[in-house]
Amino acid sequence: MVETLLEFIRVPAIGPENGGDGESKKADKLVKTLASMGFDKIEKHEAPDERVPSKKRPNVIAYTAGEKTSETLWIVTHMDIVPSGEESLWTVTKPFEPMVKDGKVYGRGSEDNMQSMFASIFAVKALKNLGIKPKRTVGLCFVADEETESEFGIRYLIKKGLFKPSDLVVVPDGGNADGSFIEIAEKGVLWFRIRVLGKQTHASTPGKGLNAHRIGMQYALALDKMLHEKYSEKDEYFDPPENTFEPTKKEKNVDAVNIVPGEDVAYFDCRVLPRYDIRKVFEDVQTSAKDFEKKTGAKIETEIVHKTIAPKPTPANAKIVTMLEQALKHVRGKKPIVGGIGGGTCAAYFREANIPAVVWSTVEEIAHQPNEFAIIENLVNDAKIFAYLAII
Ligand SMILES: [Zn+2]
Repeated sequence: MVETLLEFIRVPAIGPENGGDGESKKADKLVKTLASMGFDKIEKHEAPDERVPSKKRPNVIAYTAGEKTSETLWIVTHMDIVPSGEESLWTVTKPFEPMVKDGKVYGRGSEDNMQSMFASIFAVKALKNLGIKPKRTVGLCFVADEETESEFGIRYLIKKGLFKPSDLVVVPDGGNADGSFIEIAEKGVLWFRIRVLGKQTHASTPGKGLNAHRIGMQYALALDKMLHEKYSEKDEYFDPPENTFEPTKKEKNVDAVNIVPGEDVAYFDCRVLPRYDIRKVFEDVQTSAKDFEKKTGAKIETEIVHKTIAPKPTPANAKIVTMLEQALKHVRGKKPIVGGIGGGTCAAYFREANIPAVVWSTVEEIAHQPNEFAIIENLVNDAKIFAYLAII
């Protein structure tokens, strides 16, 4: 398992929005690996995308026939990864030169989402080696485009009608460090861009221009305060229980220190409890932009770059929830906690389509950080849970 994980970390799959060439190389390698393990049926579903060299965003599905064919246990993981970020912060090893150290595999994508990807593959392989036929058909689903919009990934597959409401769906792309948390609800997600337009000038004569960077910072801070104050309710069912409003990405402005920027672009990532309407949140963003325009004379454009309305939670008594509870009790001797998180996994799209889905895995939650790692013990122990789900 470790060897395979190491091999795959060497093949980055980054979406075009993040400056990458997509998932094709990784998908081809994956198909070869799965074929060598004797999966019954391997399918490739390719979503057309002109922005990548192969013009396709591949999704791979590996089926294993079970006793019952009327329902399928789906384990859905994603092939794409986020970029390495600031490379100098990778102090253990380089992002795509994986390394094993102290029971951990280091490298970009090790935990998010390849730990679960290979846990699911080797769970089925173990059953095959033991000659155990799963109770129901098992579909291992490896999707593209999870880190951005999922348009070419899970949403594409759901639209194709591959999944049924009676199916059992596990999305092992989140969880907690001891594997006791079963996620059945997500917050709504809102990403927006703020573009402030002032007037560029020489920094020694700022009066001749209008500093978009200063106004951008002031506006972002005011917005930060307003959103936190206005949307302050908590829900202990979620982790974290409050709404989150985070200023995140910042676009490069001028090249020289002595130029007053005429344009300033920043982004917010907001995760909002289902009780709030995300559209209202954005309306407030727009209203305060208007106020700031009046106050400062700058032009402020706000635009949504991504939004997921929080779907109805998966019922706590759904079959897949009880199966997972049983598996955790039996295999790990653990009493699981069922609850909600900040959102943004493939599970939300299943729930939107009225297909119950749970998010579960044993992870340190270090996804997207430098020195990302997967704990080898988690890789093995999660495989046991997946194997157990296939046979109960
Ligand atoms: Zn992920």
